[in-house]
Amino acid sequence: VKTIGVLTSGGDAPGMNAAIRAVVRVAINKGLKVKGIMRGYAGLLEEEIVDMESTSVSDTINRGGTILYTARCKEFTTPEGQQKGAEICRKHGIDGMVVIGGDGSFRGAGKLSSLGINTIGLPGTIDLDIACTDYTIGFDTAVNTAMEAIDKIRDTSTSHERCSIVEVMGRNAGYIALWCGIANGAEDILLPERYDGDEQALINRIIDNRRRGKKHNIIINAEGIGHSGSMAKRIEAATGIETRATILGHMQRGGTPTCKDRVYASIMGAKAAELLAEGKSNRLVAYKHGEFVDYDIQEALNMSKDIPEEQYEIAKMLVR
Ligand code: ADP
Repeated sequence: VKTIGVLTSGGDAPGMNAAIRAVVRVAINKGLKVKGIMRGYAGLLEEEIVDMESTSVSDTINRGGTILYTARCKEFTTPEGQQKGAEICRKHGIDGMVVIGGDGSFRGAGKLSSLGINTIGLPGTIDLDIACTDYTIGFDTAVNTAMEAIDKIRDTSTSHERCSIVEVMGRNAGYIALWCGIANGAEDILLPERYDGDEQALINRIIDNRRRGKKHNIIINAEGIGHSGSMAKRIEAATGIETRATILGHMQRGGTPTCKDRVYASIMGAKAAELLAEGKSNRLVAYKHGEFVDYDIQEALNMSKDIPEEQYEIAKMLVR
C-alpha cells in the first residue's frame, strides 16, 4: 500500500476528527501518502478527493463534527456503485482506505476490500451500537452532553415539581439512555432492549414516587421507543402531575470531544494506519475487554450484543 484514503460515513460523531488526524499523521510517518475523501461514499463516487498533509489536520483534535463531512449514499449500496468506487480509488492511486462510521459504512468497507482496495473500519457513532466493540468514537462526548442537559432539566423540574420525560438518541440501542439514567439518577429508564410498553406500571411508579415525597420524576426515554410527547400527555392525564417532554436531539451529536474520545479515537486511527502499512485489509478496529484489537469485517458484522444486564439491574436498584 502506497497511498491511502480516509473518509467519514453515516452519522457524524465527536472525535472523528481526532481519528482522521491520527490516520493522516501515522500514515505519513510510515511513508504513505494520504488523500481525504469528502462526504463519505457519495464524495468518493463524485471524486471529491483532496491531498492531505500533516498540517491539513492541524487544529482539529478539539473540534466536533468531521472536517471531511459525511453523507449517506444509496448508489454505493449497489454492486455498480461499489465497482465505480473501487475504480475511482485506483484512478487516484488509492490502494488503501480507512472508513470511519457505523455498521452500514462497514458493509461498504467490506465491499471495497473484496474489490481489491485494502480497507480498515473504525467505529464512529454516538450510539455505541456496534457489536464487536465496547467503545465507539463519540459515545463518551454524547453521554456527557446529554448528562449535562438532563442536570439542567432536573433543576427546573424540581422547582416546579414536574415530571419530565427526556428523550435521548441512540437509534435502536439504549446505551445512551442507560448511561444517562445512571449518571442523572433518573427515576425510570426506558430502553428499547427492555421496555415492555407497560405504561400503567410506569404511571403507578410515578404516583408512588410522589407519595414518597419525590419532588421531581425524571424519565429517560430512548429514541428507539420515542413518542415522548404523547407519553407525557397520557402521564399528565393519568397522574394530574404536570409532565413535560424534552427531546434532546442533535445537540448530542455535536460539541468538543471529551478527553476519552480524543485519546481513544487517536489510538484507533493510529492502529488503522498501522494495519494498512502492514498490508492488512478487511479489518475493523475495536476496543474489547480493555484492549484495542481488530476483527475481520464480516465476522464483526455477524456479532451481536445487548445492554449489560448487571448495569441495567443496578440502574433500577439505585432509584428505589
Ligand atoms: P452507519 O454507517 O452509521 O451505520 P448508514 O447505515 O447510513 O450509517 O450507512 C452509511 C453508508 O454506508 C450508506 O449511505 C451507504 O452508502 C453505505 N452502505 C450501507 N449499507 C451498505 C451495504 N450493504 N453495502 C454497501 N454500502 C453500504
